[in-house]
Amino acid sequence: MSKFDVVVIGSGPAGYVAAIRAAQLGLKTACIEKNRNKEDKIALGGTCLNVGCIPSKALLDSSYKYHEAKDSLGVHGISTGDVGIDVPAMIKRKDGVVAQMTGGIGGLFQANGVTAIEGAGKVLAGKKVEVTAADGTVSILDADNIIIAAGSVPVAIPPAPVDQNIIVDSTGALDFQEIPGKLGVIGAGVIGLELGSVWSRLGSEVVLLEALESFLPAVDGQIAKEAAKVFKKQGLDVRLGARVTGTKIVKNQVEVSYTFKDEEKSETFDKLIVCVGRKPLSSGLLAADCGVNLDERGFIFVNDYCETDAAGIYAVGDVVRGPMLAHKGSEEGVMVAERIAGHKIAMNYDCIPSVIYTHPEIAGVGKTEEQLKADGIPYKVGTFPFVAIARAVAANDTTGMVKMLAHEETDRILGCHIIGASAADLVQQVVIAMEFGSSAEDIGLTVFGHPTLSEAVHEAALAVNGHAIHMP
Ligand code: FAD
Repeated sequence: MSKFDVVVIGSGPAGYVAAIRAAQLGLKTACIEKNRNKEDKIALGGTCLNVGCIPSKALLDSSYKYHEAKDSLGVHGISTGDVGIDVPAMIKRKDGVVAQMTGGIGGLFQANGVTAIEGAGKVLAGKKVEVTAADGTVSILDADNIIIAAGSVPVAIPPAPVDQNIIVDSTGALDFQEIPGKLGVIGAGVIGLELGSVWSRLGSEVVLLEALESFLPAVDGQIAKEAAKVFKKQGLDVRLGARVTGTKIVKNQVEVSYTFKDEEKSETFDKLIVCVGRKPLSSGLLAADCGVNLDERGFIFVNDYCETDAAGIYAVGDVVRGPMLAHKGSEEGVMVAERIAGHKIAMNYDCIPSVIYTHPEIAGVGKTEEQLKADGIPYKVGTFPFVAIARAVAANDTTGMVKMLAHEETDRILGCHIIGASAADLVQQVVIAMEFGSSAEDIGLTVFGHPTLSEAVHEAALAVNGHAIHMP
């Protein structure tokens, strides 16, 4: 029986980062992964690198370049002639990006001395891990510490069973070989909007059927309202309060039945993407007597330090509570590795940025205005539009705004919400500021380079205290 200081189950951004950090800290570490890739090799990188963050961004970038070349370069005096799109070539490039990034993890494992083990891991009592290889061979690892990072899988809904041909989940939607004439998307959340944007930019007529009555309820209301306007202008047809009740494959299309404003409706699509959320992959992972418990929603139950109910067994990433985001899982992985090594670090769950990678991007950190109201926290607001930012005007990309929220009395920044080009990178400035307990005035007194999009963050911080210089 092989013995390790740390055995990690799952090689997604939570697991592989935990494994690398543990090895860097001098711990003998193994990382188990059950998935195989298109080349039938161990697929390191989890959902994020193989079928999530990275491939979706590769397609978002390709489709945005196509849209720019086709529709938005004329204003710069650039003529392109006829612009075409070769979808299989675009998908192949995406696969190449995935191969490069996942291969990189193999290299990092080697460089840091992490042992990659192929197979499905199961936690047994007494901190043992059973590994079942693809050929059925079973081996047992002995571990001083176990980190469970098994991730999540798409939620399936009975009215729309996925066949990965006409009705697909987010994974299938990353592999279309041609542009669907008419594309249905069930769920207008982050993944639905990103994937809907990809295919809409390439020419699909996209209809998003969303059961909720409100659009992007977790996003700050003012930003979500702006986003709804922008997406409508882009041709994304978002129908709120549309509950799918059934689907029928007819020839090479799918007929979708749904209720909308108390009426029964039916619509035919060439492809249908089901993206109604993800659920933790916690089944088959735990022996009944291993001491690890689940919460009422099927997540592995952990405390603030990602410790499960069993001593020496931790869980991180999508398989535990909190936002299902790659960077949240990675930071939990680092925290756990450090704590196993005896360091007393903790994670700041109040400062996790979230992003929707549409164009414009939508990014936020901290509390929304609605949350502050609900919590009865006194606050001040500063907003600043990109239309008054010289760099945005120069780039002809002026949609959106930065909105900053600070405490009424202390001026401490409580949240920042952005819709606009590069919002994902801009919000990070505020994440850092919040991490250091900064006030809006601190950002206001900071020198920002000119001309940059970041000046919108500066001006929004100034606006919190009524001092914005270029407010239109
Ligand atoms: P995962 O990445 O799911 O990895 C878990 C790994 O564990 C998998 O490889 C799985 O095969 C393996 N595993 C499971 N059970 C076992 C077992 N018993 N034995 C061995 N191995 C096992 N997040 C962002 O932050 N930014 C984005 O832009 C973003 N875009 C996304 C786009 C899409 C289309 C999707 C679907 C998700 C996106 N996400 C994004 C979410 C992100 O992918 C997840 O939050 C992240 O991958 C979670 O990391 P994880 O390590 O917890 O789990």
